[in-house]
Amino acid sequence: MSNSQHFDCLVLGTGGIGSAALYHLAKQGKRVAGIDRFGVAHDRGSSHGQTRIIRQSYFEHPSYVPLVQRAFELWEELQAEHGRDLYYQTGILQAGPGGGALIQGVLASSAEHGLPIEHLNVAEARKRWPQFAFDDDMEVVFEQRGGFLLIEHAISAHIEKAQWAGAELFVGHTICEVKTGGRCLEVLTDQGTFTADSIVVTAGAWAADLLPELKGHLRILNKPLHWYTADADLYSNRVGCPVFFFESETGDYYGFPSIDERGLKLARHSGGAEVSNPLELNRSLDEDERSDVAGFLRKHLPQVSDQATDHAVCMYTVTSDSHFIIDRAELDDRIVYAAGLSGHGFKFAAALGELLAKMANGESHGYDLAQFSARPRIGTRHN
Ligand SMILES: Cc1cc2nc3c(=O)[nH]c(=O)nc-3n(C[C@H](O)[C@H](O)[C@H](O)COP(=O)(O)OP(=O)(O)OC[C@H]3O[C@@H](n4cnc5c(N)ncnc54)[C@H](O)[C@@H]3O)c2cc1C
Repeated sequence: MSNSQHFDCLVLGTGGIGSAALYHLAKQGKRVAGIDRFGVAHDRGSSHGQTRIIRQSYFEHPSYVPLVQRAFELWEELQAEHGRDLYYQTGILQAGPGGGALIQGVLASSAEHGLPIEHLNVAEARKRWPQFAFDDDMEVVFEQRGGFLLIEHAISAHIEKAQWAGAELFVGHTICEVKTGGRCLEVLTDQGTFTADSIVVTAGAWAADLLPELKGHLRILNKPLHWYTADADLYSNRVGCPVFFFESETGDYYGFPSIDERGLKLARHSGGAEVSNPLELNRSLDEDERSDVAGFLRKHLPQVSDQATDHAVCMYTVTSDSHFIIDRAELDDRIVYAAGLSGHGFKFAAALGELLAKMANGESHGYDLAQFSARPRIGTRHN
């Protein structure tokens, strides 16, 4: 590529969130391109491993609820328009001590937004879900609308729909630098230069490489996933086994019903080893981590064999308070970004893509983004 190509907007990173942004920009008739180092729905970043939980009574903070409600609508729309199954409504069971952050957070979100949930004591929960074992001090909240998304299918669907709407995609391009200050923004890759009127940065674990203002504010964590053979009559989504999230005495764990021969998927949400270079992520099995997850399995899903059938390794990009950063860049306000999704961002991808597209176009969007602003958390370049 000798001369630079000009676009209305460039999306830097077309993984979970960028694929959705690309689609929404293309749908608005913008001349748009996505650039990524890896191919579509690859397994080198934070958006692989088959499934992701979606839920709406958001224990992390009620301010996520309007975004996730829009995401539910958009996932259903994408599924209907694309024709591929993406969202499975299994319900979500969340269990923890009655006074703990999980149960109290779900109750607060549900109360603030008038969301339907069932709140069960431990005796009721044991009767209703004999596949799970609950501690005596646990309470359970069940949200019917929760379920899971097939992550690789969802990314491919967004990319395909974006391309059908006219978006261009440049994979196998490593972005080296974003140059600001001129009339147009410039993106230098290892294969040439692109220019644009606006930019969306959705670079996941590499966000701080492209936006230096984020340096020192994002930690990358190594996050393994484990699969276990499970009795399909008890643990399959076809027999009504829900996705689940536990706040337990050893940490937070979550899992998915068995949807294929690999079986039930289980992982630890809390903790995780720090990753210094996401391109050199250690994907080998960490025996200590696996034995911790197996310990949770034996205690809370005692009818599932603790012999894992498979594992994968992924990355969380976490902020100091585990809340997303969605903002305009200090570097240049023609650049918008979503970063530090802290291990809970994928369910929002469809809505974040729409939101970022609107922000890049300078359109109003109606969300209150105060909770997600960079300013109070990472400061500005002037202080
Ligand atoms: C194990 C695990 C379980 C999770 N479970 C859930 C869940 O149940 N529910 C939920 O909602 N969320 C969950 N999450 C979080 C969610 O998956 C992530 O927040 C989301 O997928 C991140 O998407 P992203 O677009 O930010 O990053 P990515 O999908 O990693 O995309 C970033 C892209 O940018 C590209 N890129 C970066 N830098 C460059 C460069 N210099 N040049 C070219 N390309 C570049 C990368 O190649 C990549 O494709 C989980 C995450 C993990 C790891």
